[in-house]
Amino acid sequence: MEAMKAYLKTLAVKITSLKATRKQCRNGFVPDLSTAQSEFRHKHIALCLAWGKTYSEIENTTVRLGNEPSLSKVGHIYKELTGTMHPNFICDCEACM
Ligand SMILES: [Zn+2]
Repeated sequence: MEAMKAYLKTLAVKITSLKATRKQCRNGFVPDLSTAQSEFRHKHIALCLAWGKTYSEIENTTVRLGNEPSLSKVGHIYKELTGTMHPNFICDCEACM
C-alpha cells in the first residue's frame, strides 16, 4: 500500500503538469489528462478503502450523476492491494471466481 501511495503522489504531479499544458492546447483538451485523472481516481478510492474509509467519506460530494467510478476497477485495485475483494464489490469476472 505504501508503493501505491508513492505512485499516486507521482501521478498527482503528472496531472498537475498536464493541466498546465492545457492552456496551450486548442480547445483545452489534453488526451493524457483524463486518462491520468481516471487512473488516479480509481486507485485513490481503492487505497482509501483499503485504509478503512467508506466510499462516501472519500468522494461523497464530488460525484456527479453519470460520473460514477467503475466499481469493478476499484474492486480489482482493492483486491491487488489487500489480497481480498471488498465486501461491497461483487465481481464475477474470471479472475475473481
Ligand atoms: Zn473481477
